[in-house]
Amino acid sequence: MSEDDSCGCKVGRVAASYGHSNVDAWLLEEWQDGTSIRSLTEEFNEELVERELAAVGASRLTWSKTPVYEALHTDELSEPERIEIRRELERAGVDVEQLGADLVSHQTVYRHLKNCLGAVGPEEKTADERREQARDRVYALQQRASVVTESTVESLQTAGVTAVGDPEVLVDISVVCRDCGQSMDFDQLLTSGCGCPSE
Ligand SMILES: [Zn+2]
Ligand SMILES: [Zn+2]
Repeated sequence: MSEDDSCGCKVGRVAASYGHSNVDAWLLEEWQDGTSIRSLTEEFNEELVERELAAVGASRLTWSKTPVYEALHTDELSEPERIEIRRELERAGVDVEQLGADLVSHQTVYRHLKNCLGAVGPEEKTADERREQARDRVYALQQRASVVTESTVESLQTAGVTAVGDPEVLVDISVVCRDCGQSMDFDQLLTSGCGCPSE
């Protein structure tokens, strides 16, 4: 695995050093599909554990019932259980300190997605995209209304029906809330809305 593929953050470094390729594509896809950062982190860490066990030649079957990940990265087990599993791992040839240090937190996975991959979360995307689309649609409509009105005014001018110096047409769109009576422009509607309590 070439160093160039790694973004340099812990997720990138650890994925590279464990030969966990395609991790970025997998993370992006799963996150878009609505898998939580917490589950993604757990899966990522479990994968590292499995790869480490495979690397030292430990049989997957032998360890499948052992909560290795829990022993290394969570508080779910009692202290004696944790110590016992770590001992067994060491006997199997696992560098327990190193493996434990390589496991990532969900904040690290989140930062990798946001900062290294420039990813946008599923919910965030929906709301932002909708606002963006709505803005585009209404802006295009405003432009068209202004162009049509301007050419209409021009033809009236040419026909001598109206008298105006140099007309510029402005199209404002307001939305009024029938409940509270507040009037907003379209951007206010998108960003703050009216004073009515939201559901
Ligand atoms: Zn990264
Ligand atoms: Zn209102």
